[in-house]
Amino acid sequence: MLPHVRIDLHTHTRASDGTHSPSELVALAAAQGLDVVGLTDHDSAAGWDEAARAAAEVDVTIVLGLEISTKYSGAGVHLLAYLPDPAYPPLVDELDRILEGRTGRLAAMLARLRAAGLEIEEQEVMRRAGTAAAIGRPHVADVLVAKGYVADRTEAFATWLDYGRAGYVNRYATSTTDMVRIVSEAGGAAVIAHPWGRGSRQVLDRAVLAELRGAGLVGIEVDHQDHDAGARVALRELAADLGLVVTGSSDFHGTGKVDHELGCNLTAPDQYERLLDAAARNASATGSDVPVALRP
Ligand code: AMP
Ligand code: MN
Ligand code: MN
Ligand code: MN
Repeated sequence: MLPHVRIDLHTHTRASDGTHSPSELVALAAAQGLDVVGLTDHDSAAGWDEAARAAAEVDVTIVLGLEISTKYSGAGVHLLAYLPDPAYPPLVDELDRILEGRTGRLAAMLARLRAAGLEIEEQEVMRRAGTAAAIGRPHVADVLVAKGYVADRTEAFATWLDYGRAGYVNRYATSTTDMVRIVSEAGGAAVIAHPWGRGSRQVLDRAVLAELRGAGLVGIEVDHQDHDAGARVALRELAADLGLVVTGSSDFHGTGKVDHELGCNLTAPDQYERLLDAAARNASATGSDVPVALRP
């Protein structure tokens, strides 16, 4: 693969908490000269078909993926899963549980916000979320913005929705180790998203990353806006030490997340090749059957 290929491996659409449809994401990627885009909506493959169809019309490769809600020692860890068989039963079961946890949490969050004096109904959030399969705090934030309670999503989180704020409610997430195994068994490649971003830095040290690699972890996302220059250097060294692939990506959410513009961080072509090789190895080892046409 040529060295100038531009690869962004972590993006969201309206299938979760992004503000673009999958087709709009693909069109934007083409317009910006990206060659490869990872579609990684939270806990759902609902955007895959539309994105794959749109990508077939332009010169963009879509790497079908997920960003899965997991937990290690009580800390939230986001696990990127590239090219897993979305019909692998243990994966389907866990994603169902996570999505149910999201829906169940919504009612509890809104009750807490109402108790704090905000007028907000479940119907309003569901209308705002539209066709999203994964209902999240950003959708609640959007309603709070629309009703004038806060200026933007950032203020909604800082004032009401972040851990420790009045509207925060915990939700179900799979154990990180279990999910690394499930993704690998599903023929996919597991990569930890923003490992030293908010929340997970304390738990994801060298020993834990080594243990997760033992369960099948393929890589870590190093170049991400949540990591400062020092964190990137240290994580790169850790990855080299542990033989993990290094990825870079925008974590694009459309207008839903500032300073995460599409293509703002990129993955090196040789690292992308290693990632695809790992997924191919896992797929052939487990006989997983992701439709060939959907593989890049
Ligand atoms: P949830 O998936 O419902 O737990 O909400 C987490 C999502 O909210 C993340 O994936 C981000 O997209 C978004 N988010 C988290 N913190 C913030 C923040 N401070 N400002 C804006 N969006 C945020
Ligand atoms: Mn998000
Ligand atoms: Mn994340
Ligand atoms: Mn993300």
